[in-house]
Amino acid sequence: RLETRDLCRSFEGRRVVENVSLKVMPGQVTCLLGPSGCGKSTTLRMIAGVEMQDGGEILVDGQVICDTIFRIPPERRRIGLMFQDFALFPHLSVAANVAFGLKGLKVDPRRRVGELLEKVGLSDKIDAYPHELSGGEQQRVALARALAPRPRIMLMDEPFSGLDNRLRDGIRDETLEILKAEDTAVLLVTHEPEEAMRMADEIALMRGGRIVQQGAPYNIYKSPVDKAAVAFFSDIN
Ligand code: ATP
Ligand code: MG
Repeated sequence: RLETRDLCRSFEGRRVVENVSLKVMPGQVTCLLGPSGCGKSTTLRMIAGVEMQDGGEILVDGQVICDTIFRIPPERRRIGLMFQDFALFPHLSVAANVAFGLKGLKVDPRRRVGELLEKVGLSDKIDAYPHELSGGEQQRVALARALAPRPRIMLMDEPFSGLDNRLRDGIRDETLEILKAEDTAVLLVTHEPEEAMRMADEIALMRGGRIVQQGAPYNIYKSPVDKAAVAFFSDIN
């Protein structure tokens, strides 16, 4: 279970994330939804540990992993990451890319890589190189790599936005199915209301660095908190 309490971050005196408090339960998807520049990626980067917060705390299963004094480094957080531009290594095979996610762990890489590629349906591409794969296949390799260390929490920053519509629907359903089966707590960032409505168990609507509304997708869609939220949702129906 992932929790943030009053996370804050400023850049050059400007608050870009302000008192963001979130909860993500195992097996559930929480969508951080909001327009460009509202602070979604910064929030995710703080949780991943690649950006330092100015205030607030991050907890995993009730334990503080990061506050303003104490800080567990990113590689020890058991948090998986999938970003749109979190590219595969072009000079490494599919197997080697996935094995990269196992670095530093005491597991038999051969066996685990096989297992993971089977899970994402790419067993036949184990020796291929990234340039020989479609965009959707590359994304599935990235998913396998992110799943390799068995993260309890997965952070995803618009991981599907580079894919064309036809591919996207399939891979996002598949990705969710895999993550739910592993009981992973998923925090998914998107600026597309339609994607949030489709994928989320819970939506946190963000604007200007703050969470302005939080709840089940249907409730947010039916009772938006204000005019800006109405406008934001107006292009889906
Ligand atoms: P998008 O949907 O476009 O990805 P976002 O919600 O992810 O937007 P962030 O990347 O979190 O937005 O950025 C929030 C604000 O913080 C933006 O105004 C951005 O310019 C600013 N910002 C982010 N990183 C830095 C940085 N390292 N230095 C200065 N300003 C930054
Ligand atoms: Mg972003």
